[in-house]
Amino acid sequence: MRAITVTPGKPNSLRLVEDFPEPDADEGAVLVEAIAVGVCGTDHEIINGEYGEAAPGSTDLVLGHESLGRVVDDPTGALSPGDLVAGIVRYPDPVPCTNCAVGEWDMCRNGQYTEHGIKGLQGFARDRWRIPPKFAVRLDPKLAELGMLLEPTSVVAKAWEHIERIGGRANWEPKTVLVAGAGPIGLLAALLAAQRGFEVHVLNRSANGEKPALVEALGARFHTGTVHELGREFDIVLECTGAPPVVLDSMCQAAPNGIVCLTGVSSGGRTIDFDAGALNRALVLENNVVFGTVNANRRHWELAAEALAAADPDWLSRMITRRVPIDEWSKAYSPEPDDIKVVLEFER
Ligand SMILES: [Zn+2]
Repeated sequence: MRAITVTPGKPNSLRLVEDFPEPDADEGAVLVEAIAVGVCGTDHEIINGEYGEAAPGSTDLVLGHESLGRVVDDPTGALSPGDLVAGIVRYPDPVPCTNCAVGEWDMCRNGQYTEHGIKGLQGFARDRWRIPPKFAVRLDPKLAELGMLLEPTSVVAKAWEHIERIGGRANWEPKTVLVAGAGPIGLLAALLAAQRGFEVHVLNRSANGEKPALVEALGARFHTGTVHELGREFDIVLECTGAPPVVLDSMCQAAPNGIVCLTGVSSGGRTIDFDAGALNRALVLENNVVFGTVNANRRHWELAAEALAAADPDWLSRMITRRVPIDEWSKAYSPEPDDIKVVLEFER
């Protein structure tokens, strides 16, 4: 069968292997036929040799962590043939730590977790894959062309759950939300904000392509420029760029009792002149919370599946700006200027 693989740590080792072995039975009871995988920034970091770890006993890693497939067989009976599923990316560490021990692998404390297509587990960019039933998430049948958005949606579902849990520390009636960055994570964060009935503002570096129209279709307002130039504060800020000036500006624009959620990963090594004392003063005197979030556990994947099922399928399909058939696989990994989400299709 076909698989997209890399040799982790070796730049430009990306290739299509035509005779990749069928998935091993010990990868999980559920056999799934791939429909598509989404491509994201983490894939590009792995392709560039900056990140990624091969599966044990192999020098190579199958890419792909934003999965969508159809169940072929599940002898456990948890799923039925034909069910639409996505595979949970992260597995608990083997120790396990106190969080992994209770299914909170998104909060793993020792870093020994594994991740499909990223760290020590083969990914989903192959014709067939296997997964244990408890790591398979069933999707609404109407998401047969969109379900690869579940993984990025799980990340924002966790962000929203944590925002709401933090907000529960006191009486809190938030009304306004700022999302910084209109990439896939920012747009999905805005979708979940709109589903909650908030007044939503989305800020992006440029107004090119579909992004402004997608934001407006949510009933939200699209802005360019800096967070500071918006000249106002927000009850909730979701930072989805990881760009240091945007991160700092975002922390300064939280309203009293406001919550700033950081989801972007900065590359580091860049310093900016910044008044840390003024920031501290603003955070303390307004009871602000700034927190970071990554990954998602099974509960968040289920919340994400509900959010996608409730979303307008036309809106979700407009987020997918290119669909590349497996025969032209390399195009899926060559970014183009107006890309939002690119998917690689195995079936069609
Ligand atoms: Zn752990």
